[in-house]
Amino acid sequence: MAIRNVTLDIDDAVYQRALARARSEGRTLGQVLTTLLTRWAGPVPQPAPSPGPPPSPSVSAPVARTYTVQPGDTLGGIARKMYGSAAKYPLIAQANRITDPRRIWVGQVLTIPPLPEAGEAAPGAPVARPPTPTVSVTAPVAITPAPDAPPITWVGSPNFNRRPNPNDIWAIVIHATANSSLEGVITWFNNPKAMVSAHYTIGKDGRIVQHVRDENRAWHAGKSEWKGVPNVNNFALGVELVNLNDGQDPYPEEQHQANVRLCTYLCRKHDIKPDDIVGHLDVAVPKGRKTDPRGYDLERLRREVTTALNA
Ligand SMILES: [Zn+2]
Repeated sequence: MAIRNVTLDIDDAVYQRALARARSEGRTLGQVLTTLLTRWAGPVPQPAPSPGPPPSPSVSAPVARTYTVQPGDTLGGIARKMYGSAAKYPLIAQANRITDPRRIWVGQVLTIPPLPEAGEAAPGAPVARPPTPTVSVTAPVAITPAPDAPPITWVGSPNFNRRPNPNDIWAIVIHATANSSLEGVITWFNNPKAMVSAHYTIGKDGRIVQHVRDENRAWHAGKSEWKGVPNVNNFALGVELVNLNDGQDPYPEEQHQANVRLCTYLCRKHDIKPDDIVGHLDVAVPKGRKTDPRGYDLERLRREVTTALNA
């Protein structure tokens, strides 16, 4: 059968959404488009049977399966479930183009390729120990900490894309989650349909989780502008504080102190000025579209971060 290449021009917004969705399903855009176009074109008429020799009894070709990531899963654990051996995890990593084994998330659909035939070398699959880090809601892992970093637990989120310039990070936007639990935020940000995320969320007890790498663009600020520059998600880090945002719900001191430590660390890491630590309400367009973090003392945060940076 002849294979043809088809070129498409699509709007970037549609492209980004499609890409996020394809990633969340563990597929490539090419695979998605091929399926869609094949369905749309309808069944291909079968050629009349030729009088040639009958096809050899089919040795059924091995078929890839899929697996949906569950809370607590690791790539090694999935390999053990699917292949009976955790050491085979590189096969899954390779089939899903996972370069960092920590970067799987609950609900992600992974392609599980068939095992290579005996004697056939598994391409690029060295015998290796399964990765210990995992990404999940129930079994999060601590990220290798920088010396001055507060304890941060990586939980991951599929809701992000690339920054136009990964090195251009110069603001921090503080949000309130408008809900009451850290677990609720993690679940929501883990849902590809939510299409929202932030880089960090701080629980009321001061626990810090990370959903998106600093270098990537999380989806938290929406239509926004800071110092005359639109689309704040391009150059900002998003920090969510678990709080009802009703002006009554308190921000406990443990939560505030964790935020001071996190922002101090991020300011140092990216050379961000404390002046550019702002509330969502400060950057949302049009003015008044957002009120969060309602009742939080941003001035005190900037002051204490400045003090910590000069210490
Ligand atoms: Zn917000």
